[in-house]
Amino acid sequence: MTHFEPKQDQESSSSPIHDTVILGSGCAGLTAAIYAARANLKPVVLEGHEPGGQLSITTLVENFPGWPDGVQGPQLVENMKQQAARFGTTFRMAHLVSVDLSKRPFTLNLGKETLRTRTLIIASGASARWLGLPSEQALIGHGVSSCATCDGFFFGGKEIAVIGGGDSAMEEAMFLTRFASKVTLIHRREQFRASKIMMERTLAHEKIRIVTNTAVEEVLGVEQKEVTGLKLRNLVTQELCVLPVSAMFLGIGHVPNAKMFAGQIDLDEDGYVRTTNNVFTRVLGVYACGDVQDRRYRQAITAAGSGCMAALEVEKFLEEHGR
Ligand code: NDP
Repeated sequence: MTHFEPKQDQESSSSPIHDTVILGSGCAGLTAAIYAARANLKPVVLEGHEPGGQLSITTLVENFPGWPDGVQGPQLVENMKQQAARFGTTFRMAHLVSVDLSKRPFTLNLGKETLRTRTLIIASGASARWLGLPSEQALIGHGVSSCATCDGFFFGGKEIAVIGGGDSAMEEAMFLTRFASKVTLIHRREQFRASKIMMERTLAHEKIRIVTNTAVEEVLGVEQKEVTGLKLRNLVTQELCVLPVSAMFLGIGHVPNAKMFAGQIDLDEDGYVRTTNNVFTRVLGVYACGDVQDRRYRQAITAAGSGCMAALEVEKFLEEHGR
């Protein structure tokens, strides 16, 4: 990757120049904030549309080191936020409209105001992937959801479908058994991506039925404005059938939130930020960490690790460029 050194902007402006702005408040962004704040860089965290990131909508996290009995995702992220705030992080509820990385300082357009910063840490994470069916999109919020912890409660005593074959789908299916009378987990292949332990728990659950080699063709209920069932296709026999359910929860992975950087830093074919040495983007002074650049590990602990690396690189960059 060829690195790009932006020129200094000659125009004068009275607005302050921050040492670093962190885009995103999930595990990666908050860890970066803890490190940057402890280096006295007074980081500004833009919380984005999903404050706390994916941890904030998950349930028990059992694999984050240091929590032998597990910890609830929202609690873990709140603890990180408090830790970052204690050392001088400023949190802003703001959405990035556009960004200019072609000149120093970098400018971030937040709509009503523009922030200027010497460095930028992109920790904007990834958002839930949808199937892309028109009927699915029409029924989001009316029985179609990508967040079991947010919406599962509304389907007490009902039959529910969960789509996907990875850990997210298993976790959603298990969680939804608290409310649903029955959960049908639908996966498009025979093999599952989910970890063995999650798979075993899901298979053993009396309320969960697993259907493989099957795709959703249509979500039924658009006219009634609520999910009434799913039209399913068996991908081996091509047979169609209708599964009556009151809700469909997606657990089919995520897409990186990096579109607004297209053309300014390198993105790969699926939209992930391309990095070298873990966190370096093409633009010197701009770093990326967590799920926005990691298509391989995507764990809370690896996101935290890369957030730490990004903050340490910011510190080094500012030292070398005479902060
Ligand atoms: P994954 O990418 O692991 O799995 C996505 C699943 O969705 C795959 O089975 C995939 O099918 C399926 N899928 C993708 N697109 C479609 C589509 N258009 N139509 C139908 N099915 C589709 O994502 P996850 O979110 O499950 O997991 C991401 C990472 O987070 C993993 O590393 C996982 O281990 C981790 N995780 C850990 C948890 C925990 O430890 N508590 C909980 C949740 C996630 P196919 O297999 O055919 O590609």
